[in-house]
Amino acid sequence: MKEMKPKPNPSLPPQQRKIRGFNPGKLITFPAQVLEPIKHYLLHQEKKLNHRKDSLLKEDPFTNPDRLNDNASIDTDAAEQFGHARSQALRQEIDKTLVRIRKALTRIKLGRYGLCENCGRMIDTDRLAIDPSIQFCLSCQKKLQSKEEE
Ligand SMILES: [Zn+2]
Repeated sequence: MKEMKPKPNPSLPPQQRKIRGFNPGKLITFPAQVLEPIKHYLLHQEKKLNHRKDSLLKEDPFTNPDRLNDNASIDTDAAEQFGHARSQALRQEIDKTLVRIRKALTRIKLGRYGLCENCGRMIDTDRLAIDPSIQFCLSCQKKLQSKEEE
């Protein structure tokens, strides 16, 4: 008859699972097997967005160097103007997302992934699942959004 080995690490005692406030000494971090796919996803997104930005830059009539030298601002074609504005707006959106992705990657490196950038509390994992580059917890997000709208 085989001897029963003691089961390693049953369920953690509740006090270790609870996250109360922000305590840098006792951060609950995500295990590597959870972080790895997130990291891959973020790196993949970063690559994709950089490609997208490059192609937008090529589409933008104003970033064409010949176009710039050929000072035609007076009779700028409306379509070109629109194309430029659209391309620029899209690139700005991409830049914002890229910043968020890089910040999320940095947080993974520092072992702070999933923590709100504003208050340092854990972000709801459901929200992280929807957007892995999310920066703020729900209450901070709401606060920041209402500030922006003011
Ligand atoms: Zn927060």
